[in-house]
Amino acid sequence: MGVTSVQSAAPGETHQTDAVIIGAGPCGLFAVFELGLLGIKAHVIDIQDKPGGQCAELYPEKPILDIPGIPVVTGADLVSRLMEQIAPFNAVFHLNEMADSLEKTGHGWRLATDLGTTIDAKVIVIAAGGGSFTPKKPPIPGIDDYEGKSVFYAVRKRDAFAGKTLVIAGGGDSALDWTLNLEPIAKRITLIHRRDEFRGAPESVSRMRALVEAGKIDLKIAQIKGLEGADGRISGVAVENADGAAIVPCDTMLAFYGLTMKLGPIADFGLNLNENRIAVDTEKFESSTPGIFCIGDMANYPGKLKLILSGFHESALMSHGAFHYVFPDKKLKFQHTTSAKELQKTVTGTTPMDD
Ligand code: FAD
Repeated sequence: MGVTSVQSAAPGETHQTDAVIIGAGPCGLFAVFELGLLGIKAHVIDIQDKPGGQCAELYPEKPILDIPGIPVVTGADLVSRLMEQIAPFNAVFHLNEMADSLEKTGHGWRLATDLGTTIDAKVIVIAAGGGSFTPKKPPIPGIDDYEGKSVFYAVRKRDAFAGKTLVIAGGGDSALDWTLNLEPIAKRITLIHRRDEFRGAPESVSRMRALVEAGKIDLKIAQIKGLEGADGRISGVAVENADGAAIVPCDTMLAFYGLTMKLGPIADFGLNLNENRIAVDTEKFESSTPGIFCIGDMANYPGKLKLILSGFHESALMSHGAFHYVFPDKKLKFQHTTSAKELQKTVTGTTPMDD
């Protein structure tokens, strides 16, 4: 499924709208829908060249199993479905642009991007996830020589790993997810982690251990000391543990040592930060600055779970909070989507039903 084409704007222009959403990850995209239901128009800014955030950048082909009502969907397909779902609301996208500075105006906010676009809006919705994210590089001597040739930090195309003798390094969700997902197509996988405890979801840990038990993958608890190979082609990973030193043969290595999340220019927006994320209330997901909301992974509140479904919930409540800034004289009446007659007609192509 391809991503539905986006309505994009040329950089350097001046715009006026109701809401600016910073970040086109799954939560920013769903915010377009929830705002749209209430008649709030949105522009979306993302520094990446395509919508989808982590789903598109870090795991487009990994199955996601915890989206309500969709038993299984890949990261890329979820983004396509979200783009399809929000299409009726005609949000304007500013891709390849960094939300750079924010100033208060008489009517709301003026957001400027690094490419000189300025957007005046009544509310700002920060859905910037982990900020601009880059995979952390493992501290392995000489790894630079292999990067992008036989050592990778993300899986962009799952099929690229078919038939490979893989070493997967790491002990978190990414290492476990890709061990499970590549096992059916790789020639052989060795998962290497420095200790026999994993930070990933317990369900993934159990499934990984079951594969080890069944002899389908290998698990090596050891420190990685170096790489063997020539001309960018890896041939083995040198490891060491209490049993001594060894070489784990491979032709490809995937290393998942976490992500560096850089808050970027948002750090200078003058917002109340908590652990480098934006502190919000759980009624409207509004920051301590009135009119600036934050949803998704960047939102910080007690009990926050960095899950897509949490961000979807946050989008709905945020939109109700935003409504009062956009339409100060109107009363918001809660309605189901059955009341959105035009949307129903567009989506179903049939005469709308009554609620
Ligand atoms: P993101 O997806 O991080 O998107 C934020 C966007 O904001 C990015 O595109 C970034 O470029 C942009 N941005 C940031 N700062 C700026 C700026 N200043 N200007 C312009 N653009 C900016 N969750 C689940 O629910 N189920 C799963 O199965 C699951 N599996 C996962 C597997 C892996 C390997 C990983 C890494 C995560 C997984 N997650 C899963 C977590 C899920 O991906 C996140 O919770 C989700 O992506 C958060 O969405 P978001 O919209 O808040 O942020």
